[in-house]
Amino acid sequence: MTAAASAHDVDLFVIGAGSGGVRAARIAAGHGARVMIAEEYRIGGTCVIRGCVPKKLLVYASRFGHEFADAAGFGWTVPPAAFDWPALIANKDKEIARLESVYRSNLEKAGVEIVRTRAVIEDATTIRLLGSGARVRCGHILVATGGTPFAGHPIPGVEHAISSNDAFHLPALPADIVIQGGGYIAVEFACIFAGLGSRVTLVYRGENILRGFDDDVRAHLRAEMEMRGIEVIVGQVVTAIEKHDTRHTATLTGGRRIDTDLVMFAMGRKPNIANLGVEEAGIRTAPLGGIAVDAYSRTSVPNIYAIGDVTNRINLTPVAIREGHAFADTVFGGRPTVVDHTNVATAVFSEPEIGAVGLTEAQARERLARVDIYKSTFRPLKATLSGRHTRMLMKLVVDAATGRVVGVHIVGEGAGEMIQLIAVAVKMGATKADLDATMAVHPTAAEELVTMRQPIVRYGVEAE
Ligand SMILES: Cc1cc2nc3c(=O)[nH]c(=O)nc-3n(C[C@H](O)[C@H](O)[C@H](O)COP(=O)(O)OP(=O)(O)OC[C@H]3O[C@@H](n4cnc5c(N)ncnc54)[C@H](O)[C@@H]3O)c2cc1C
Repeated sequence: MTAAASAHDVDLFVIGAGSGGVRAARIAAGHGARVMIAEEYRIGGTCVIRGCVPKKLLVYASRFGHEFADAAGFGWTVPPAAFDWPALIANKDKEIARLESVYRSNLEKAGVEIVRTRAVIEDATTIRLLGSGARVRCGHILVATGGTPFAGHPIPGVEHAISSNDAFHLPALPADIVIQGGGYIAVEFACIFAGLGSRVTLVYRGENILRGFDDDVRAHLRAEMEMRGIEVIVGQVVTAIEKHDTRHTATLTGGRRIDTDLVMFAMGRKPNIANLGVEEAGIRTAPLGGIAVDAYSRTSVPNIYAIGDVTNRINLTPVAIREGHAFADTVFGGRPTVVDHTNVATAVFSEPEIGAVGLTEAQARERLARVDIYKSTFRPLKATLSGRHTRMLMKLVVDAATGRVVGVHIVGEGAGEMIQLIAVAVKMGATKADLDATMAVHPTAAEELVTMRQPIVRYGVEAE
């Protein structure tokens, strides 16, 4: 308990029981703090309730169709398969409810008091609970309110577009869907719906999907998605949505009109700070949106901290969790801890999957004097008998001056699992020579990471 605790009702008030808030609350309570956490929707936050976890369950569901088709090449006769969307959603909801109760009971076991209401900041040491109107005096406040889907610019009919939140609760699988957006959420849902049998059109205003990922990865995935029947339209946006009975018409910039069951907008997320009392408390926001924080996640108000998506640093669950843990250790554990945001590995659960860690080729060329690129595209062994037209991509970005592997990019089955492991080596500063010295595991796809011998291009090396 902090020295000033007696002047307060709680030592720590956490706003938002998502990935970051739950971890921070539990660890702070473990350090002896009196902790209260407010949640206005469901405990577990975006990741558990309407993000990573339910999404991955839908991803698994969407891949069975391929598996049934691929099985024929291996001698199996699979009777015509039927898919039941309501059964999938009901099973998913059951699992999410189970997880939510695990999160709740973990908080309770840690001694954290849960209040099921929206909370707002009244001033630097006071929280108002909207449900009861009660005021709570706090030693510290942690803002962990996450983000919300960006609803899009006000075009005619924007209210007819669904968000990723709604996609988890559709009463039926759409026969066709237009998805606007080019980020990982748009791409993942495009692949989920296509895998389950919907006709999918992906519309993105930029020049290619997945801005921020390596250009080879972006091109490779787009080609694979198109091969699976997804229509990818770039350089355009949806300018209007009309609703006719149960169907919709989406009009694009170029004038094309697409008749569709559903229009989904997945154009990014914005930090959840509206009507939270942020301005009133004098908390500064960052130029890119979100609450501005220092390396210890401290805001411009000394006893108020912010973690996770609301700070718009790297918007991923493991990052929010790590920031929440570091905050609790710093403020209540007597162990000032800074989170290292470099070399954070990430996956896109598209079909096929992407795994990436470190610098893209373009980033490496901007930052380093000499860069070697190793790249391999190949037909996975499984595709030889299944007859599926698919290729894997593996790419290493190497700092030629030091030999260090500064980027790894994978597209193909299992990429998410592979990148988690190779990220350890990258984080430890592995060199290309270290990968070369590692014996391959055969026959696997991942062995390609340790068997690429010659760079396909060398930047910064004088022509001989
Ligand atoms: C569709 C989708 C898929 C995703 N997939 C992945 C993935 O595969 N891997 C990955 O790492 N990340 C993924 N993410 C991102 C991940 O969900 C977030 O980065 C993570 O949840 C952020 O955690 P957080 O604690 O910052 O906020 P959140 O988990 O969003 O939690 C914030 C909580 O605060 C509550 N809240 C907000 N305001 C108030 C208030 N005033 N009072 C009380 N409660 C309030 C909200 O209801 C919410 O429960 C995905 C996100 C989405 C939307």
